[in-house]
Amino acid sequence: MDLDGKSALVTGGASGIGEAVARRLTAAGVKVAVVDRDEARATALVGEIGGLAVVADVTDAETMTGLVGQVEEHFGGLDIVFLNAGTTSGQSGISDLDVEAYRRIMGVNVDHVVFGLAAAVPALRRAGGGTIIATSSLAGLVPMPGDPIYTLTKHAVVGYVRSVAPTLGGEGIRVAALCPGFADTPLIAHAKEQFGGFPLLTAEDVADGVDAILDRAEPGECWFVQPGREPAPYGFRG
Ligand code: NAD
Repeated sequence: MDLDGKSALVTGGASGIGEAVARRLTAAGVKVAVVDRDEARATALVGEIGGLAVVADVTDAETMTGLVGQVEEHFGGLDIVFLNAGTTSGQSGISDLDVEAYRRIMGVNVDHVVFGLAAAVPALRRAGGGTIIATSSLAGLVPMPGDPIYTLTKHAVVGYVRSVAPTLGGEGIRVAALCPGFADTPLIAHAKEQFGGFPLLTAEDVADGVDAILDRAEPGECWFVQPGREPAPYGFRG
């Protein structure tokens, strides 16, 4: 897919997977808005690669609408929306659930995707179509040991993408999910010893998955990225 001259919004764009994708898209000639709550990292990245830095907490519906409008106006349109900001829950509890931590992760991993999609669709309609990619995870396809709430949120993303994709696909708005295995980013730095000896993806490997989705994904597909393999759509049955 020729991306030159297109515009993109990347949430969680200041670190890890989002940063790798922001760099990759920029190198392909895309105008990129790096959206993150980490002001220092977002402005430093945009200072280096160009584009637009938007400092925002992406868990709020009005914020998402406002920032999509801001980016659309700044670039004169919007073609690609990568809803990628995310976090882990930091808890494995079931009956001893930390309710505050639960609400926090639901806000970033689920509300953000639902509100981001709602805000992005009118902008992509105005552009005559486009692509929305939501970052789920391997944990959106199979349970991740040790963090059932993270698994819940990432399954929710897969379910939502698969639910809305057929309708939006009919309007030329392609919605797909990115489902990486464990990747060596700041998100899992605290838990790296847990994966001792297990091959980790790099953020660059995961960016290959985004390239593949932009190039050839069908609406509703969930692209699995795992070490040593080409990114490929996950084979749901039925
Ligand atoms: P990361 O921690 O390196 O980057 C996440 C970015 O999101 C950070 O810059 C952070 O500031 C930003 N962010 C978090 N909450 C925010 C909020 N409320 N508002 C605005 N920005 C916010 O992590 P990463 O590994 O690059 O993760 C990116 C996505 O990939 C997440 O959705 C994560 O769940 C998913 N994922 C990661 C892995 C992995 O192993 N690293 C595997 C599968 C899926």
